[in-house]
Amino acid sequence: EDDFKEIAPLIRRMTQQQEQLRKDRDEIARSAQIRQDFTANVSHELKTPLHAISGYAELLENGMVQEKDIRPFAAKIRSESLRMAKLVEDTIGLSKLDSGAPEMKWEDTDLFTIAENAVDCLEIPAEEAGVSISLQGKSCPMHGIPETLYSIVYNLCENGIKYNHSGGYVHVHLEPTESEILLTVSDSGIGIPEDAQSRIFERFYRVDKSRSKEVGGTGLGLSIVKHALMIHHATVHVDSIPGKGTTFTVRIPRRPM
Ligand code: ADP
Repeated sequence: EDDFKEIAPLIRRMTQQQEQLRKDRDEIARSAQIRQDFTANVSHELKTPLHAISGYAELLENGMVQEKDIRPFAAKIRSESLRMAKLVEDTIGLSKLDSGAPEMKWEDTDLFTIAENAVDCLEIPAEEAGVSISLQGKSCPMHGIPETLYSIVYNLCENGIKYNHSGGYVHVHLEPTESEILLTVSDSGIGIPEDAQSRIFERFYRVDKSRSKEVGGTGLGLSIVKHALMIHHATVHVDSIPGKGTTFTVRIPRRPM
């Protein structure tokens, strides 16, 4: 019996180690699978605009396009190229974040100033979509990676504009507390069905693929947001009513460890 008393903790520790090893192995397999799916998805998403571009170019080259249709064809080639460029840009952005963003610098910064810049950059797209965009709040000093924080605000606001109606709004609100910053981005847009709300942060997930394409989406915006939030130990909560609008509530620690 004495022997058993000595051996029991050893066996327990070995079992725990085996369990941990199994978990690690599953985790590695899972991330390998995610990477494989991602590569397959990117290739697929790039092929579609490429085929469209070469198809239009071929018709132009062969003189199959009437004079009056040349401009619309050129416009299609341009918009497909822009979509490809956005996809490449988002993929690079995501892989930078994937690698833990080693070259991105942590700095003392102000989330309110960052949000002002993001909102400024979206004034024109908002106006084109007939959506008003506004920012409220006050200075929000914090420690973080400015570039990454920018992409959080930018992507959330851009979606608020894209998935909205003419005459709608996007409101951004920032509020500092002792330990964290509360960022809310509300829109009066099309909303997100309840069963989709838990999936929108997945890579390439879109509620409505054709709407996303039409508004220049890549399906990567919110996965960039998710990564950027993770790096800052921040959380996000989604409230949405289909047909009424969506609010994203983000809590970011002011001094993430
Ligand atoms: P996309 O490039 O397609 O916009 P995202 O990753 O940014 O990709 O978002 C994923 C999907 O979530 C979108 O395709 C859209 O269906 C939905 N979505 C995101 N934000 C909103 C919003 N504010 N209102 C309604 N739907 C949204």
